[in-house]
Amino acid sequence: MKELVERIKKDGQVLGDGVLKVDSFVTHQVDAELMEKIGERFAEVFADQGITKVVTIEASGIAPALYAAQALKVPMIFARKAKSLTMAEELLTTSVYSFTKQVTSQISISKKFLSEGDTVLIIDDFLANGQAAKGLVELCQQAGATVSGIGILIEKSFQDGRALLEEMDLRVVSLARIASLENKTVEFLEEDA
Ligand code: 5GP
Repeated sequence: MKELVERIKKDGQVLGDGVLKVDSFVTHQVDAELMEKIGERFAEVFADQGITKVVTIEASGIAPALYAAQALKVPMIFARKAKSLTMAEELLTTSVYSFTKQVTSQISISKKFLSEGDTVLIIDDFLANGQAAKGLVELCQQAGATVSGIGILIEKSFQDGRALLEEMDLRVVSLARIASLENKTVEFLEEDA
């Protein structure tokens, strides 16, 4: 997606350890207009899939997932990383290793929001080693829901995430694909959408 690629070129900061910082438009301050366009693009790509729920993980997935859900006219659910006191009901739960934080954490979604009848579009901001997306897929599987695809804003194609998800027969659509972050420079691949 041209707008996202251009914005990464303009405002993305490459940190030394293969990490791209996009805190001025995705992960901290959020560009709502850009997120709306991103949500609409995912909705277009997955328009014919009969999506009934958009699922993401807090926090940075929420903005693009919400706009995708709005465009598809379905609810958005975000997996929680910490158990809330009000989540007394039964939970779908799995553990996810975080690439950036280097810790394993439990993520969960209340059982009442996902069921066998659901066809899910998963959205996340980054795809690195695929652990966050895999965790979300596992929550959908626990509910008996079908995962129709995974929409990613920024794929770091030099890491294993896409291969892991494609081995699980999942369709991955990334709006910006990064081939390399070496020498503090962002090299792009052709994006999917
Ligand atoms: P994965 O689970 O695919 O290894 O990593 C995905 C998660 O790690 C994303 O939800 C994102 O929060 C975080 N992440 C991975 N790589 C980066 C990166 O280069 N920059 C930022 N800001 N977050 C990243």
